Amino acid sequence: ELSKAYFIQVIEDLIPWIEDRKEYFTDLDSAIGDGDHGINLSIGFREVASHLDEWKADNVAGLYKNVGKALLDKVGGSAGPLYGSFFMKFGVPVKKKGPDEGVTGDEFVEMMDKAISIIQKRGKSTTGEKTMNDTLMPALDALKAAHAAGDDIKTAMGKAVEAGKAGLESTRDMIATKGRAMRLGERAVGHLDPGAASTAEMLEIFYKDMP
Ligand code: ADP
Ligand code: MG
Ligand code: MG
Repeated sequence: ELSKAYFIQVIEDLIPWIEDRKEYFTDLDSAIGDGDHGINLSIGFREVASHLDEWKADNVAGLYKNVGKALLDKVGGSAGPLYGSFFMKFGVPVKKKGPDEGVTGDEFVEMMDKAISIIQKRGKSTTGEKTMNDTLMPALDALKAAHAAGDDIKTAMGKAVEAGKAGLESTRDMIATKGRAMRLGERAVGHLDPGAASTAEMLEIFYKDMP
């Protein structure tokens, strides 16, 4: 069982994380994109920070929906709306819960499934295209497999994080067929995808905050 407090903690940790890592993600994006990935996420999470206290009274689904909406409304580019959709969808499987109710392991896996799957739909994208999907989709597969095999949710999420990091690393050798890096062709080879890098670290926060 994951408490409401856990889900608040994740958002509270994402806010300073993006400030710390903004420059790194922007550097990655300068190499193969337009150098704003860290800035985009920072704009979004600053908006989240300014409203988080009002949103805490909502149930988990309402809280994450508000986070998603803020990212969708405030962030331009491609990753902002994709991150926004992730957070909008995350709470959908538990939207009927009371304001202080937690979430079971089964529900958490379903939430990650909804959140990650919307990115392929919105982005019209999949693995192998040098995007955040290369982190998120293998992470989701690992999460589902570990959960189905009977691992507790933290152990399963730990395996998801490892699979996501391996996926991130795999983007280094890829040419991009989605997003701005597409225009670089072979010149994108040798560089990590910025969105794959940021989502790998985001998943790690979801993991580390688990009790
Ligand atoms: P922009 O490219 O508009 O400047 P960002 O720099 O914030 O937006 O985000 C770039 C990241 O977005 C890429 O590194 C990639 O991971 C992700 N991305 C771009 N297009 C797609 C897509 N169609 N599907 C999934 N992810 C995508
Ligand atoms: Mg960019
Ligand atoms: Mg941009």
